[in-house]
Amino acid sequence: MTLLSSIRLSDAEKLNVLRRLDQFRRWHSLDEKRCCLVCGEIFTGREIQVLESTDGGAPLRVICPTEHCHATAMEWVPPTEDVLIKIAMVEAECRWVRLVGQAGQAIQWYQRSASNTTSRTKSKPRLG
Ligand SMILES: [Zn+2]
Repeated sequence: MTLLSSIRLSDAEKLNVLRRLDQFRRWHSLDEKRCCLVCGEIFTGREIQVLESTDGGAPLRVICPTEHCHATAMEWVPPTEDVLIKIAMVEAECRWVRLVGQAGQAIQWYQRSASNTTSRTKSKPRLG
């Protein structure tokens, strides 16, 4: 098992590491923001964690600063409007799914109570 430890680098070194390891998007400065597609958080280059294996064998790695999120550079995108809209849509979709679930339960409850009423009225002989 390879043990990884978080290391501290100077701004210039960190930017170099990011440029080297993130082959997908350009880094102009550590103040640039990235949006993690795994956890949905937005962070700057400064917050990104640089990891180094303690046995010195593996190359440096950069991972998402969010706790328990181990997304790497490949899963980060610049937080452009498109991405923000997509995140908003996913959130809206979650809310919608919850809403549909609640509506479904309400309908089931309504149908149950409606059928109860029907069976009650059926079993009860009508007067008149
Ligand atoms: Zn993340």
